[in-house]
Amino acid sequence: MSAWTTVQYPTSRIYEAECTTDGLDCTAASGSMRSIGDVGAWTKAHCQETGHTRFLRIFSDHAIVQCEGHPLSPRSAARTLQQ
Ligand SMILES: [Zn+2]
Repeated sequence: MSAWTTVQYPTSRIYEAECTTDGLDCTAASGSMRSIGDVGAWTKAHCQETGHTRFLRIFSDHAIVQCEGHPLSPRSAARTLQQ
């Protein structure tokens, strides 16, 4: 069995929200944002504008995986060291 490591980029998190208010056909979405605070502000503004109150919040990040025989590329290694 080969070994591997996975490193998360702490600064690469992406936050999004989609309106999922029951019974409505609203497709509003925040798009990619850099902080949970930005998503909170978007959901608050959408609620104030429309009265919609239910949202799917989505959190994503990037991971760097290093496994046997496939070392980090110089670019990935440099970005990891910057964290
Ligand atoms: Zn909505």
